[in-house]
Amino acid sequence: MLAYIGLGSNLNNPKQQIKTAVMALHATKDVEVVNLSSLYQSPPVDDSKQPDYINAIAQVNTHLTPLELLYACQAIETQQHRVREKKWGARTIDLDIITYGVQVVASKQLVIPHPEMMNRAFVLIPLAELEPDLKVPVLGPIEDIIQELGAYQLTKL
Ligand code: ADP
Ligand code: MG
Repeated sequence: MLAYIGLGSNLNNPKQQIKTAVMALHATKDVEVVNLSSLYQSPPVDDSKQPDYINAIAQVNTHLTPLELLYACQAIETQQHRVREKKWGARTIDLDIITYGVQVVASKQLVIPHPEMMNRAFVLIPLAELEPDLKVPVLGPIEDIIQELGAYQLTKL
């Protein structure tokens, strides 16, 4: 199954955090990272006192179920949180499942397509970089979703 994972970080060397998470994803049993978008930088949405965010999208080929993939993502978050939690008191890496093939999931734990993806340039733009013709389940063609986006600040690194 082809899935897209959104990666984000704004603490403690965000670019390295993303690279580490991508390597950890690739090292996960039954997960193969087959493509990675450019890194993108954007200001925080709600708290301007935070540092800028770095985001990217990884395309993975996986035999894991959606829930297993979520647990794998959470395990990587835990690995990369653990060291920094005391010092920073905030997350250093976030891994979200954006899409999982054409599957739609709506449970308490997991919602796919990711429920905020249509509002987030830092998800849509790198996703379109990887797959400009992607048809997102429920939401439709990625180019149409991007057209609906309001103004945004996003720098391709
Ligand atoms: P956020 O990503 O919204 O900033 P968290 O990373 O702390 O916040 O995630 C909160 C919860 O979101 C997780 O415990 C997870 O169960 C849930 N969740 C629902 N859908 C998804 C998804 N598609 N990808 C990742 N987490 C998801
Ligand atoms: Mg998350």
